Amino acid sequence: MHTVYFLLGSNLGDCTLNLKQAVEEISKHIGLLLKVSSVYKSAPWGFDSSHEFLNQVVCAETALSPEALLKNTQAIEKRMGRVKTRDTYEERLIDIDILFYDDTIVEENHLKVPHPLLAYRRFTLIPLQEIAPNLKHPVTQLTISEILENCTDPSEVTQYS
Ligand code: ADP
Ligand code: MG
Repeated sequence: MHTVYFLLGSNLGDCTLNLKQAVEEISKHIGLLLKVSSVYKSAPWGFDSSHEFLNQVVCAETALSPEALLKNTQAIEKRMGRVKTRDTYEERLIDIDILFYDDTIVEENHLKVPHPLLAYRRFTLIPLQEIAPNLKHPVTQLTISEILENCTDPSEVTQYS
């Protein structure tokens, strides 16, 4: 069995419901849920962004390989639907990123684990710290708490529910 961490994000439609549905889909198709963080809200960037972002981190146990895991998370994103806002532009109701897969390092074009932007985004680190403050990054060996202390992202992230 492998321990995996996901970052869930939603900024379209009923975001709270979208996150709930994604967590259910993960437990159904990926494996046993071990920990689920609170939901956090990020202040929208820029002046015209009317949608706020909701994020949540989920830890699960899975038998799937990293490759199969990505296929499954992408299938969940697809099943949960896309909204056509223009002819060519589609936005997802849900984004599921793989943050960690045990201590495994994957460096493929289509899959990078640990997630390369993890250390730079407070909207990832804050929910992650809630459920795994002492988890060590396999490359830097820093804990999530230490990474968060070093993070200079100024964006505001507040607990939502
Ligand atoms: P973003 O997550 O940056 O908003 P997408 O969800 O559309 O954008 O992902 C773009 C691509 O990122 C995916 O097609 C996938 O192949 C790739 N990818 C690379 N590493 C990861 C990862 N750790 N988790 C999820 N997707 C990843
Ligand atoms: Mg993604």
